[in-house]
Amino acid sequence: MKPNLVTRRPVPYLPIFASTPIPEEDPDYVRVMSAEIRVLARRKNAVLLVHNYQVEAVQEIADFTGDSLGLSLEATKTNADMIVFCGVHFMAESAKVLNPTKKVLLPHLGAGCSLADSISPESLEDWKARYPDHTVVTYINSSAEVKSMSDIVCTSANAVSVVRSLPNDRILFTPDRNLGAWVARQVPEKKIVVYDGACPTHDVLRGANVLKTRQAYPDCVVIAHPECREDVLAVADEVCSTSAMVDRVAKYPHATTFLVATENGILHQMRKRYPGKQFIMADGCIGCRLHCPYMKVTGLADVWRALNEELFEIDVPADIAAGARRALERMMAVPRD
Ligand code: SF4
Repeated sequence: MKPNLVTRRPVPYLPIFASTPIPEEDPDYVRVMSAEIRVLARRKNAVLLVHNYQVEAVQEIADFTGDSLGLSLEATKTNADMIVFCGVHFMAESAKVLNPTKKVLLPHLGAGCSLADSISPESLEDWKARYPDHTVVTYINSSAEVKSMSDIVCTSANAVSVVRSLPNDRILFTPDRNLGAWVARQVPEKKIVVYDGACPTHDVLRGANVLKTRQAYPDCVVIAHPECREDVLAVADEVCSTSAMVDRVAKYPHATTFLVATENGILHQMRKRYPGKQFIMADGCIGCRLHCPYMKVTGLADVWRALNEELFEIDVPADIAAGARRALERMMAVPRD
């Protein structure tokens, strides 16, 4: 019998220090495996949604690449029976919530998210009790259960607009403290209480590292994700969401070098879209610090197995799905920033 998973936390399996060669670095393996995945996907009428932070070989088999909400919305437009979500667990949950009649598969159960795990339903209950007259705005990087307990969801692309659109001047923003603090600076007219979660991949970067890296590229443009700390955002030329970071490069036609402060997988899409430009990780190394182990856990073999065995199916209990859908649909009624 196939497992029907209603998991809040995937089983941790993080082969970060694997000593065996990474098969995705073998071009023959990538070519053969990618072709087999495409055949299987066609046979099963599956759509392959791949987040911008996934390994390059997985990004290359995608029907669509993008950020979590963009991908879930893309899935609502297809006639596919099955969604294979190459991302992390909360994204597959959102895809299921927005596409309840489709089978949603997460290829690797180790694909969790530290930020989403930093807020549990119990912890949110606790904060809501402390701030009873506040409207709860929850970042999409959260479990379906936490979304269902929130008034409205936001993404990094629309967080400011969502907060501005609310009639209440008192906001409880969860779970990302860096994004919440950034929103509070853009919307000073509201009193925003910020929860204390963070994405360790972004939170590890310091403004001093960015400044040091920038010394070698004095004419560069710095583009940062708002999950970064305030000292990083203070030295950035642009602060925007994952998908917007790729688009924002076009705003600088005369710039040749860009320092990028987010998970290193985004560089693949940037280099494809702008082959004449140079993209450097803002941490000054090859991206080993700006590296999300959860995003990198999914390989081509996992995708192939997901399609072949229809694993691992993500389901969301009906009452939680209804609450999460309500919070997501409220957000979708608000335009992007
Ligand atoms: S980069 Fe951060 S927020 Fe994104 S999946 Fe990884 S841990 Fe979660």
